[in-house]
Amino acid sequence: MFKIKEHKQLTEHKTIISAPLPKIVYLPLSQHLGQICSPEVTIGDVVSLGQRIASAQAKIFSPIHASVSGKVTAIQDWPHPVLGRCKAIVIENDGKDSFQPSVFSRQQEELDRLTPEQIRAIVFEAGIVGMGGATFPTHIKLNSPKPVDTLIINGAECEPYLTGDSRLMIEKTEEIIKGIALLKQCLGVQKIYIAIEDNKPEAISAFSLQPSAFSFQLIVLKSAYPQGGEKQLIKNILEKEVPSGKLPFDIGVVVHNVATVYAVYEAVYKNKPLYERVVTVTGSCLTNPQNLLVRLGTPIKELIDFCGPLKEEPAKIIIGGPMMGIAQYTADVPVIKSSGGVVLLNKKEARQQEEESCIRCGACVRECPAGLMPCLINLASEKEMWDEAKAYKAADCIECGLCNYLCPAKRKLTQSIKRAKLELSR
Ligand code: SF4
Ligand code: SF4
Repeated sequence: MFKIKEHKQLTEHKTIISAPLPKIVYLPLSQHLGQICSPEVTIGDVVSLGQRIASAQAKIFSPIHASVSGKVTAIQDWPHPVLGRCKAIVIENDGKDSFQPSVFSRQQEELDRLTPEQIRAIVFEAGIVGMGGATFPTHIKLNSPKPVDTLIINGAECEPYLTGDSRLMIEKTEEIIKGIALLKQCLGVQKIYIAIEDNKPEAISAFSLQPSAFSFQLIVLKSAYPQGGEKQLIKNILEKEVPSGKLPFDIGVVVHNVATVYAVYEAVYKNKPLYERVVTVTGSCLTNPQNLLVRLGTPIKELIDFCGPLKEEPAKIIIGGPMMGIAQYTADVPVIKSSGGVVLLNKKEARQQEEESCIRCGACVRECPAGLMPCLINLASEKEMWDEAKAYKAADCIECGLCNYLCPAKRKLTQSIKRAKLELSR
């Protein structure tokens, strides 16, 4: 792992505030790993806040909910932060925020009696997915096909610039603890670790002072990149390796991100579907970087305007962090369930330089946290030699972007390895 410049000072002390409500939201039908949803509404329908508007007939998917109340005005192709473009349900906000009638608070006695199946059903109905970026439906992760005895709560937030998880841990400690108790109830695990990097002293102190009905171990990790990868966390905390091609549950472990845990708390305690999330809107181009609570489907240009005015034109706008995030071609793109950050980089920070030939310095091999040889997978991928890419274990790449960051020749290593992974998965 590697120490990289963090840039977190721009927002780390900024309390989460609500972004202005968007006039129109664009809710893509794909915001999760698995089957793309189909609309359950048609143009002209009036919808309530939190109403389910899209679903699928498949094993792996997560339903989508209205993030404002109002009228469905279109179901059309729209920019998507990961896929480029995707069909989206467009809702014109009526400004009333009228809730669907089923939103309520559960009483403690009812909460205590919830079975694992009932918790999973609530989490599924609420449309919760891994909010650290993975977007795997959480209800499936709560139904491990193999016995698990260890739960790790990922509060590492090792991506530069992003501070939304850190603020959640400081401002919603009690709620996150309640969310962890629900996961414990659901998974039946005994060992619980909450992992936080040492660059978040306020969050560490919040959890060390927070009373809890169950015991957990607070793990303070030395800040390094990419500490927050599931396999890296497991290795650092438990000194166990997840074998190549396997998943954490194969060794009895499950990892959930803090924002996901908070969403589970909101779903179970308040019956609130996932229709908003915390987004760090940041970068030196902005006058007023912020941590914002944003309705899903809000175009990022509205967030940029809210955190502006711009001090200089950004050379690159990234959704997610600068290491693992995706550069966007338009600011019309909306926030989706996995969008933890909107980062605006100027020309210097964007490091837009021409690719040169590999100088065989070995930096990418030395530092790859997955123990791969990125330079060789890159060559195999460029030549479309997929058998070689497979032999070099391209599928084990966690897409952390560290090889790109370190490469003096500015080789687009991660992009080509992602392509190889995609080809190999077909
Ligand atoms: S090959 Fe993958 S895991 Fe290794 S440094 Fe590059 S992006 Fe990260
Ligand atoms: S870091 Fe770049 S230049 Fe160095 S070996 Fe890897 S690909 Fe080649």
